[in-house]
Amino acid sequence: MSIHHHLDDATIMAYAAGTLREALCVAVAAHVAICPRCRAAVRAAEAAGGALLEEIDAVSLDADALDRAMARIETPAAARPAMPEPAPRPRDPRVPAPLARLIGGGLDEVRWRWLAPGVRSYEIPVTPGAGSLRLLRIAPGKAVPEHGHGGTELTLILSGSYSDVTGHYGPGDVADLDEDVEHAPVVDSPEDCICLVATESPTRFKGLIGRLLQPYFRI
Ligand SMILES: [Zn+2]
Repeated sequence: MSIHHHLDDATIMAYAAGTLREALCVAVAAHVAICPRCRAAVRAAEAAGGALLEEIDAVSLDADALDRAMARIETPAAARPAMPEPAPRPRDPRVPAPLARLIGGGLDEVRWRWLAPGVRSYEIPVTPGAGSLRLLRIAPGKAVPEHGHGGTELTLILSGSYSDVTGHYGPGDVADLDEDVEHAPVVDSPEDCICLVATESPTRFKGLIGRLLQPYFRI
């Protein structure tokens, strides 16, 4: 996988500092799990945060904390030795581990909900008030829904691709764009483009759905 679009420094810092909302954390963790560059950046940010804490409070943070946390994420079964082993199922290579646990399988098993012609959606439950997280599946040639404005929003491509004025986004790429950026992404892969979209505010997605449905229902 060759990744060309990465997380912003500000997003990395917020993630390392633990100030990102849950929905955004999932998208960051999913990208970090497959992107060595952003993983190193998170590690550096955590080390910098640890050094800062050390100065202020004489508290020492273990620089391996992320490695150990990631190891726990990768091996959840080890934490539950008493549970019966589930039947081995090949993991969908398109779904990073932190996301696979939340959707409970591969992309082919997702129970998609029709949103508009060529656009299907699956909402991933998060803690109420912790943002909005959903998968979007968009047919070739369709415009990727314009997302809300204001607040942070992350789009991680899992399958297929799209292009806009900021470039071409394929599997593993993350769009971590300024809220001011005007872009009109269009799916340019022969297959559906499936992406994970995390937003800070759940209400903004009502706006998205409204905008998606508007041309068809004039709501
Ligand atoms: Zn990255």
